[in-house]
Amino acid sequence: MSPSGAEVLRQIKTRIDEVDPAVVREQVSNGAVVVDVREADEWSTGHIPGAKHVPKSYIETRIEGAAPDRSQHVILYCQSGNRSAWAARTLIDDLGYENVESMTGGITLWKDRGYEVEQPRALTGEQRERYSRHLLLPEVGIDGQQRLLDAKVLLLGAGGLGSPVALYLAAAGIGTLGIVDDDEVDLSNLQRQVIHSSERIGVPKVDSAEQSITALNPDVRVDKYPVRIGPDNIMDILPGYDIVVDGLDNFPTRYLLNDASVRLKIPVVSAAILGFEGQLSVFKPYDGPCYRCLFPVPPPAELAPSCGANGVLGVLPGTMGLLQATEVIKLVLDEGDPLIGRLLMYDALAARVTEVKVRRDPECPICSRPPESISDDELGVFPDYEAFCAGAH
Ligand SMILES: [Zn+2]
Repeated sequence: MSPSGAEVLRQIKTRIDEVDPAVVREQVSNGAVVVDVREADEWSTGHIPGAKHVPKSYIETRIEGAAPDRSQHVILYCQSGNRSAWAARTLIDDLGYENVESMTGGITLWKDRGYEVEQPRALTGEQRERYSRHLLLPEVGIDGQQRLLDAKVLLLGAGGLGSPVALYLAAAGIGTLGIVDDDEVDLSNLQRQVIHSSERIGVPKVDSAEQSITALNPDVRVDKYPVRIGPDNIMDILPGYDIVVDGLDNFPTRYLLNDASVRLKIPVVSAAILGFEGQLSVFKPYDGPCYRCLFPVPPPAELAPSCGANGVLGVLPGTMGLLQATEVIKLVLDEGDPLIGRLLMYDALAARVTEVKVRRDPECPICSRPPESISDDELGVFPDYEAFCAGAH
């Protein structure tokens, strides 16, 4: 006869290490990973501060997100200490974790002792409905949606790339969108800059973009910067943002942005478009190469889109912008493989996507050095731009 569930549990508990809540409190400050294995509705009633949430039903597939190193100290807890014992056995026997404990008495005993409980912020009923398709994804869920709502993303440019990025990030519930653009809406923009509209020709792009964003999702706060980003203002605008989306159309500012973002350690999701072709990469300072590692010198002037008006297929910035928005969301959620150290190239006419690896340059003039050593007058050092563009003729 098979043993009863209670008997199996008793046997499991003789084999795994159980630990008292008082010890868990100390271990948290010693770097142990504390994992709450209860269901989402239980987690939302309050959890141990700093704990990660991996429901027992997802423990095999999602524990690596919370504790990637199998030798690290992991403490599991649930409501009363039984489910966490089962989950601990799974981690040890099936997944090869070496240092796993289960907290005695669960969060119930923790609360009885009067220890601190963190109350997750709840989504409003309207937010639950608005983001319901996100909440159904285990990779997003309530926690991920909260991260999106807490995120601050700066868009450089509300043009071809900035338009789709802003609309989709707003729809996804990115809580703060900063928009830098000193331009006004022009009729010739509307072939691709879908955040603007015919009746807003002549309106500053930051105002026009704000109107569309607010109409789409009132959860989003828009910070407007109707200026041209330059050496005089970049160090005032960038700090405080989690991610920068580069929709810039000129190389000097790209180098400036690179140098400032490395110094501030802010990742940049960068895209460029010309004609029927687009490029995309994520520059995460010190995790992967920077823009100068990829382009130590500017490309030939005749390939520089900023030296004059160039043709672009209207849908192309849409394609590339949505890839940028996707990378932003992945970075915020810490999910998937970001495009760090990889340059993706899209050829619209051939319908072909190719990718090349990009390595960090150990001799890079910027990212080979500690951020605090990058001085103000080194930001955006670039050959004389007039002369650079004159080379195109
Ligand atoms: Zn570099």
